[in-house]
Amino acid sequence: MLDPLKRICQFEVPGGGVCRDEGCEDMHLSRLAGPDGRSSAQPTDEDTAEYLVDVLPPDWLGENSTILRTKIALALEQIRVKNPQMNLEERVAHALASLGTPP
Ligand SMILES: [Zn+2]
Repeated sequence: MLDPLKRICQFEVPGGGVCRDEGCEDMHLSRLAGPDGRSSAQPTDEDTAEYLVDVLPPDWLGENSTILRTKIALALEQIRVKNPQMNLEERVAHALASLGTPP
């Protein structure tokens, strides 16, 4: 069960790194991708977008979480096409950056 009050760990987004704090209770994209971080069963762009909408702070969502989810999925897809080597964490960071930051 995802907790909507939690934030994505700042080590990962926008940090682009890996959180090594076992006590950290923020949301971690690396844990979404799988315990080894390199699962062959990567989540789809839609799954990732849905996850992000669930965990992003309410400031991001406004009243258009459905639209935002579509935008994120589209951004993720575009980044994947342009940068096939990029891993999930990097793609998410770029996708969120392309959508702007909350006020
Ligand atoms: Zn963390």
